Formats: sequence, C-alpha cells, structure tokens
Amino acid sequence: MTSTLTTVPFVDLKLQQQPIQTQIEQAIAAVIEKGDFVLGQVLGEFETAFAQASGVQYGIGVACGTDAIALGLQACGIGEGDEVILPANTFIATAIGVLHSGATPILVDCDPQTALIDLEAAQKAITPKTKAIVPVHLYGQMVSPRALMELANSYNLLIFEDAAQAHLAEREGYRAGSVGLAAAFSFYPSKNLGAFGDGGMLITRSESVAQKMKTLRNYGAPKKYVHMELGTNSRLDTIQAAILKVKLPHLEGWNRDRNLAAEQYDTLLLPLRQQGITPIQNECENGHVYHLYVIRVTDECSIDRDTLQAKLSEFGVQSGIHYPIPCHLQPAYKHLGYSEGDFPMAEMLSRQILSLPMYPGLSSDQIHHVVASIKSVLGINQ
Ligand SMILES: *Cc1c(COP(=O)(O)O)cnc(C)c1O
Repeated sequence: MTSTLTTVPFVDLKLQQQPIQTQIEQAIAAVIEKGDFVLGQVLGEFETAFAQASGVQYGIGVACGTDAIALGLQACGIGEGDEVILPANTFIATAIGVLHSGATPILVDCDPQTALIDLEAAQKAITPKTKAIVPVHLYGQMVSPRALMELANSYNLLIFEDAAQAHLAEREGYRAGSVGLAAAFSFYPSKNLGAFGDGGMLITRSESVAQKMKTLRNYGAPKKYVHMELGTNSRLDTIQAAILKVKLPHLEGWNRDRNLAAEQYDTLLLPLRQQGITPIQNECENGHVYHLYVIRVTDECSIDRDTLQAKLSEFGVQSGIHYPIPCHLQPAYKHLGYSEGDFPMAEMLSRQILSLPMYPGLSSDQIHHVVASIKSVLGINQ
C-alpha cells in the first residue's frame, strides 16, 4: 500500500504561479505605474488576445462570469418574455445569469454518461417563446457543436455558451466560445484561467453584440454621460487583465497537463468499473480541458459517495462535489415550479458524482495515491 503520508490537495494554485510570479509582479507594477486601473490599455490587449485564442474577434471583460451571462444575454437581445433553455445540473451562476437578464430559465435534464445537457430533452422543452439555449461545457468538456447547431438552426434559436469551465476546450474543430453568437467565461481563481480575484468575459463574433456589451458594462453609456441603456458597472479590472495576460500563453500547456492527468486516472480506474466506479465519459478526447475530473460512485458500488469522500480524506485525498444540489431543487428557485423527480438524471448524478484532485502539475505519484486510496476504501487488494 502507498504511504498514507502523501496528501493530495484538490487544487494547488501556487504551483501554477511560482514559475511566472516575477512576470506577474512586473505586469501589476506596470499598471500601478500607468494608473489606468479602469478600462486601461492592458484590458483591451487581453480582451483581444483571449477572444482570438478562442476563435472569435471580440472580447469584453466584465466583473465576473455571472455578469458575462446576464449582460451577455441582454447584449444578444434576450430579456423579459423570452425563454432560455439550460441544464439543471450546472453551477447556480448559469441560472442566476439567465434570471438577471430578465429571461425565464427553462431547465432540462442531462446525459448521465457525460453529464452534459440532454439535447433531446432540450428539443422537447422548446416553445414559441424559446429564444436561446445555454449549453454549459461542464467540467471542461464541450457540448457537441454539430448537434447544438443542428438543433438551434431547426428552431431558430440563438446559442449562448456558458464556457466558464472550458477555456480553450475543443470539439469537432470548434473552440469553446466560438460555436454560438456569444459565450461567457469566468476567471475565478480556480478556473483553468484564473485571476487574483473575480473576473469574467463575454466573447462574440458579432460587432453589434460587442458594442452593446461594452455599453452595458459601463453604465449603459456608449459615450461619457450619455446613457442609452440601463446597464450597470461591471468591468474587468486592468490589474486582473494584466495578470491574465501573463498567464494566457501558458494555458494550453496547463490544459494539456490536465488532459494527461485525466488519461492516467482513466487507465488506473479502469479495473474499478466492476466495483461501480465510473468516470464521466470524455467524448472529445484531447479537446477536453478537465476543469474537473469527475467519477460516479454508482449504485453497484459497495459504499455510497459520501462515505467514499469521507474515507478518502482520511487518506489525505481531498475531493469535491460539483454539484450536490441541482438548480431546480435549490430553495431560492422554488418559484420556477420544479420539484423532485423532474430531472432524474441530474438528481442521480448529484448523489453519485465526486471530483478528484485535478490541476496542472498534479504528479503521477499523487494520482497513484488517489487511486490506491479508493481501492483501499473499497477493500480491493493491490
Ligand atoms: C464559475 C462558473 C460561472 C460563474 O462565474 P463567476 O465568475 O463565479 O461569476 C458560471 N457558470 C459556470 C458553469 C461556472 O463554473
């Protein structure tokens, strides 16, 4: 058995920062020197760099990913009276964003193998009021662009991607954020590309959406003191943009690291399928950027998810649950009128899923320790 002295954290942000710390400090110092803290030069540079890396022309930095969804939907012309389809198993911010745009969120179930939105369920939820679908590229895996576009084209829906977990993910030749009219990203510190605080961005191929978004994030003013929209104050700080701009060239390498770690998990976990442990299926191979590596502790397993999680922590292995309560069962969302049993797959996953340690620089020894610990908990000889 592996030594129980090894501990494996769930994420390790320091590890990623250390090699570029001096560069980041210099970039921060340059902003302090220049003093353009709000809507400064480096913000524009980072917006263009990130949008282009994602395969579109325009990027508009905002305060957080939630605002990128709320304001982004408005910039796309979505609002009161419109229905917007989104998965029930996502981080609550997707639903908050839709609600704050003024639109009505319509939740649908997911595919239990991939945990991604079930597009057949989405199709069934379409009404004459449906204006948009918000696919969530959950855990770093993209929803199939081909399938999405087929559905959106048949019903004249707009695609607005929640790509908060999928920076530079790829599938069928598309990068995350380049499939729909617009897409929202988050730069929350633990996302694949993270700031030193909150941050977000809307990216789009449309010049008019970009213009409207710039107005909305800046008090609805296309020109100083001329307020054409209600808008709000939601801008990505120049300092955060400077940090993110230093990190951006490393993102592809970090994503590759995550993908390789996932491959190693997959291989080591393969024999545990008979014991009821199955990883969430990867349908986009190297294009999956593994924001999270998630396994299912199915009903065939001798213990339940919560027991496994508790026992793993005794072995020094930290884990997470993304997410323990689906959106439709959250107390604040009662008024949407959903109840238990409405989305059986999302509900089942919320009881089965466990996110294992995943971050760039996670070592092979640590991955072995995680899997060996799971085997020990399940009483499997190794
Ligand atoms: C993180 C996240 C968001 C929200 O981003 P914030 O920057 O925290 O507001 C939205 N959707 C998903 C799927 C996320 O993971």
